[in-house]
Amino acid sequence: MGARSGNNYLSALKKLGAEIWIGGERVREVTSHPAFQNCARSLASLYDLQMERPEAMTFRTDDGGRAGLSFVQPKSADEVRKRGHMMKVWADFGCGFLGRTPDYLNVSIAAMAAAHEFFSESDPRYGDNIQNYYREARNHDWCATHTLVNPRASRAQGWAGHTDADLALKLVERTTDGIVVSGCRMLATLAPMSEELLVFPSTVLKAEPAAEPFALSFAIPCNAKGLKFLCRDPYDIGRSKFDHPLAARFEEMDCVVIFDHVVVPWERVFLCGDVVRCNALYAATSAVVHMMHQVVVKNVAKSEFLLGLAARIAEASDAMPLQHVRDRLAEMITTTETMRACLRAAEADAAADKWGIFAPARAPLDTARNLFPRLYPRLIEIIQLNSSSSLMATPSDADFANGDERPAIDRYFGGADLGARDRVALYRLAWEVACSSFGGRQVLYERFFFGDPVRMASALVDNTDLKPLIERVKAFLARPD
Ligand SMILES: Cc1cc2nc3c(=O)[nH]c(=O)nc-3n(C[C@H](O)[C@H](O)[C@H](O)COP(=O)(O)OP(=O)(O)OC[C@H]3O[C@@H](n4cnc5c(N)ncnc54)[C@H](O)[C@@H]3O)c2cc1C
Repeated sequence: MGARSGNNYLSALKKLGAEIWIGGERVREVTSHPAFQNCARSLASLYDLQMERPEAMTFRTDDGGRAGLSFVQPKSADEVRKRGHMMKVWADFGCGFLGRTPDYLNVSIAAMAAAHEFFSESDPRYGDNIQNYYREARNHDWCATHTLVNPRASRAQGWAGHTDADLALKLVERTTDGIVVSGCRMLATLAPMSEELLVFPSTVLKAEPAAEPFALSFAIPCNAKGLKFLCRDPYDIGRSKFDHPLAARFEEMDCVVIFDHVVVPWERVFLCGDVVRCNALYAATSAVVHMMHQVVVKNVAKSEFLLGLAARIAEASDAMPLQHVRDRLAEMITTTETMRACLRAAEADAAADKWGIFAPARAPLDTARNLFPRLYPRLIEIIQLNSSSSLMATPSDADFANGDERPAIDRYFGGADLGARDRVALYRLAWEVACSSFGGRQVLYERFFFGDPVRMASALVDNTDLKPLIERVKAFLARPD
């Protein structure tokens, strides 16, 4: 099939019937459930964008079809840049708040398939499996979620790293059909709207035999027998797009994943029991670099949107001339420009990796992914500081519809250049970004979704060649003049 339409996605999701639990109830049908239907429609719109703009959003595959461009295995720096533009179209659709547009994982599957030898060295079947899975995912244009981290019940060192070995996802047995796994993983964002679950290693395992049952990498359909997703409280609670402009569109949901003797057929297994390769997987296959590309595109879209929001608030409240408002806007501009510069540098310096495909340069992307978790909370703080009590003066759609309240609202809620409804719409958007549960989760997401910031910083130190700089300082100290 190749690149799909929104309708194709929605009808596949409707039929899927994965076991999803929310608020004490099992979800009967995702595409008509109030917590998920709007996000599912937003994802469908992303797929429709591919059909509307095939030249910009898809590429021609070796079998003559057209596939979504995030599945491309770039053959040049230009293809990396083109993929970046495609991802920006999707990121802008979600104003940066839909972190898990399907490109996030598509790029990682494409990178891993290009690095199939990495898997073959563990078992020749695994190399074939990852290539076949890539082709299948690309041909179906699947929407996938992934889960990396085991539960953190205890900080004591267990076999699965910082976790309790009784809770963590682990291998139960190998059978002729495949492997059987049980245990828990957290989290899987977008799981209710996904067709496939990718289970990859993240926690660094100790290189010893007792860690082998936890060393797993595989993919299964979200409706696999024994697989269960437990949702947090939803932020899309059925209110209008005026009331909740973001949650009523982009609630991507986060789930804990429970595996109860789930059978993973051998053809879906990419690694099993290979601790060393599990620990190395993301870096060695370059998948992490391609994922960072998607993440930094999202950072650009998100900081641009927030800068636009802050500027509109300043304009609409006649606050643009105020020095402290300008100072804060300048701070947001520097964040936005820094993200743009990192993205541009990474794409400009894209080069062929050891697997023969082009990857963006890692250092600027690493810089952006280490900076953004620190900068994003400040962007939100600025929206709060520049908006203050106006974030609370936010009557709802129902208030506007009430004839008794309406005259007072129309009289007292207008702004410098805005009628009451337009001004309230602006501040409801700002409230959602800066004060709501949806907004709080976005801050948490930016702090942690790509890994613990302390360990990410540590990886940046490891990945930076500091020796020449140290030598330069030593040489200076030894200078005779
Ligand atoms: C909104 C959201 C969505 C997510 N979606 C996904 C998803 O779709 N798929 C997925 O796989 N994961 C997802 N994650 C999980 C993400 O991968 C993890 O949050 C991240 O890897 C950090 O792990 P953790 O949450 O277990 O934090 P922990 O490792 O428990 O760390 C918590 C805090 O403790 C500190 N800490 C940890 N260890 C030590 C130590 N030894 N000494 C001192 N301090 C320490 C950390 O620095 C951090 O500040 C998501 C997370 C969030 C918040």
